[in-house]
Amino acid sequence: MNTSISIQDSLLPFLPLLYIAWADGILEKHEIDYIKNQIDDNNTITDATKQLISKWLDPSHPPSARELVYWKKYIKQHADVLDLSEKQDLYSLGTVLAKKPNLEEWANEKTKQSLQQIENYLGVSSHEAIRFIDDFNPALFKVDSNLKRSEAPYSKALKTLLQHGNTDLKNKVQSILDPHKEDIESHSEDLYSRRDKVLQWTLELADAGLGKLAYPSAYGGSDSMVQYAAVFEEMSKYDLSLTIKFGVHFGLFGGSVESLGTNYHHDKYLKDIGTMALPGCFAMTEMHHGSNVKALQTTAIYQPDDQSFIINTPTHNDRKTYIGNAAMHAQMATVFAQLIVDDEEHGIHAFLVPIRNKQGATMPGITIGDNGHKMGLNGVDNGTLHFNTVKIPKENLLNKFGDIDEEGQYTSPISSSSRRFFTMLGTLVGGRLCVPIAGNAAAKKALNMAVYFALDRKQFGPPGKPEQSIMDYPTHQKKLMPLIANAYAYDFAHEHLLREYTSHSDHDAQEIEALAAGLKALSTWNATDTIQTCREACGGKGYLSEMYFDRLKADTDIFMTFEGDNTVLLQLTAKSRLTYFKKQFGRMDWWDTLKYISNIASTNLTELNALVTRDTSQDHLLGDEFQLAAFTYREEYSLRTLAMRLNKKIKSGMDSYEAFLDVQVHLIDMASAYIDRIVLEQFIGAIKKQEQNSVKEVLTSLKNLYALHRIEEYKGWYLEHDYISGSKSLAINKLVSKLCKELKEESQHLVDAFDIPAHMTATALKFY
Ligand SMILES: Cc1cc2nc3c(=O)[nH]c(=O)nc-3n(C[C@H](O)[C@H](O)[C@H](O)COP(=O)(O)OP(=O)(O)OC[C@H]3O[C@@H](n4cnc5c(N)ncnc54)[C@H](O)[C@@H]3O)c2cc1C
Repeated sequence: MNTSISIQDSLLPFLPLLYIAWADGILEKHEIDYIKNQIDDNNTITDATKQLISKWLDPSHPPSARELVYWKKYIKQHADVLDLSEKQDLYSLGTVLAKKPNLEEWANEKTKQSLQQIENYLGVSSHEAIRFIDDFNPALFKVDSNLKRSEAPYSKALKTLLQHGNTDLKNKVQSILDPHKEDIESHSEDLYSRRDKVLQWTLELADAGLGKLAYPSAYGGSDSMVQYAAVFEEMSKYDLSLTIKFGVHFGLFGGSVESLGTNYHHDKYLKDIGTMALPGCFAMTEMHHGSNVKALQTTAIYQPDDQSFIINTPTHNDRKTYIGNAAMHAQMATVFAQLIVDDEEHGIHAFLVPIRNKQGATMPGITIGDNGHKMGLNGVDNGTLHFNTVKIPKENLLNKFGDIDEEGQYTSPISSSSRRFFTMLGTLVGGRLCVPIAGNAAAKKALNMAVYFALDRKQFGPPGKPEQSIMDYPTHQKKLMPLIANAYAYDFAHEHLLREYTSHSDHDAQEIEALAAGLKALSTWNATDTIQTCREACGGKGYLSEMYFDRLKADTDIFMTFEGDNTVLLQLTAKSRLTYFKKQFGRMDWWDTLKYISNIASTNLTELNALVTRDTSQDHLLGDEFQLAAFTYREEYSLRTLAMRLNKKIKSGMDSYEAFLDVQVHLIDMASAYIDRIVLEQFIGAIKKQEQNSVKEVLTSLKNLYALHRIEEYKGWYLEHDYISGSKSLAINKLVSKLCKELKEESQHLVDAFDIPAHMTATALKFY
């Protein structure tokens, strides 16, 4: 029998309260008594209504399941028309249900208070209660977060500091990309339309003059790698496909023309590259040779008869692959090939090869393939290039480091082919500066989302009390705070490298390349760890595309591999450090150098002081002196053991290739320790430059967290090497947790300084 259910009008205002009271189970006697007392004591409520409420509070006649469903539906239907502000408590909700909302017994302060007290007694906060009513459709009750943006005394200065003097430029990028935010964040289009959109945004940035900033002013640029990198960072907050497409064209293709070409190439091409009138690509990697660039198989054979080169791909395995911009948009490629003149090989050189005409048709002799859908960066058209005896004029050799003279003879300002090769590659280091900056921007965006989410999100709590913010959990603080510290640490290190790069003399080039290689490796690994941790820190919501983590994870994943595989790069850093020492020791040969390194390092290492090893005082642990000493010790120790191992192997007759292979793991350890030390030094240096005390203070806490957390991560090593005692290790753990807790109070301000566009942050807070 289907009996209909109805609710008397005078009961309607109290319906949300009755529903909440019954919906989560059986009402206990003391709860019923409390509600009745509150209602009875309220002389603004009529006796008839009191009786009705009392009837519905009778435990021997609770509302049936059907009645509860009906009540809920009724409340929801009416709540649907409310503004967000009207859904904040049961009283407001009851007002909407009331047939006569102005009814005296309802519309008064006393009734409002009674209801609030009942809510409190039952342990349901209004917000939670409303959410409970609405469990069918959370979107219905979407309310803005209570979290308010506020500022700390250091906020403005910290934000400005992280802009590194490029605020206007960054604002310009935001103003160009903000209007595209819906398209940028769309997940619905196919591969080809996404690629097309990314091309359009790249062209828009080019039209605004942002692509050519690093080029010489004679070609419309600003001679500023620093500004170019600032644009790169800003774009990365929006779309990493855009960043990489932009980087491939202006940085890799344009950069190769600028660094490896001469005036002829600059005059002929740089202006068009700067406006993207001539879209290009950078074709180095081959199917069978990626990291091992020296062994590329594509050939460029000089033809003295008509002063041209024939570019050829010997086998299918030697085709260029993964080349950004190649599959659809590039008209010209910088192709890396083995130069052969008169049957003599001169090693890898770069050549400009037209691959498409202006209408987009592929040039004769060239086969272009499409790498198709990728794990990430799907707005970039990566493709393959196969050259079947393609003829190009002699002038298309980018001839700064090697040329063919009028007699058809090869000439080069650098006679050693190996040194020439490394010099050529060294000039292309710009990409290695920019990729980690983009990675750190992605990490900052992830941290921004995770921190905002954590401050707003509540789970569990003390019995009978509202749930508490997940940011209050020490495990959450320990997850996020060290990563915020890392983001700052790498930011300062990148900035240092950028400034060094733009002001260095040729003399320092090798050291800067070594630093760029190692920093790229550690910084991009940190970015990937950060994004993953932040995703987990946002629970299930972190898995939704609206939180960006899917794209951030997928797009930055390749940062570990392109612009040099991280493991390969760290070996380069380590070898370069050894060469650096060899240079310092003047005319010593390798053997003597290694012996010498082991000796100096040993002298420093024996200076360990037992008192220091056991010092657990905060002043000591939080001091630059201890932290730098600990980082330097790890670096010097690994340098010494590396030198000793190599020394022994070479002495026993092992050839140097085998010896280096045997110590590969130690090379990586040494390079990582070196980079860690530089990062800490730069953090300390950045703090020293600050004038505002509040900025100094917050940065010092972050620096302490970066340093102590790194030591904590390596505590096994420090304990093994007796650098710290067990009690000192425990004191460091404790201090790390303390710093995490203290910095949690600043977390919102710290991520605000990253200047992530507000609409992205808002996404983290849209929940209910
Ligand atoms: C999306 C994307 C875009 C790209 N864009 C371009 C582009 O525009 N232009 C271009 O020229 N290239 C581009 N690349 C290619 C990229 O630069 C190479 O993939 C990269 O240099 C690594 O080379 P590989 O793929 O041959 O890896 P491999 O060198 O084969 O590496 C495979 C594994 O072997 C390990 N390994 C290799 N050598 C050593 C060693 N000596 N010691 C220890 N371990 C080692 C590595 O650590 C790695 O784990 C792109 C690639 C991708 C995926």
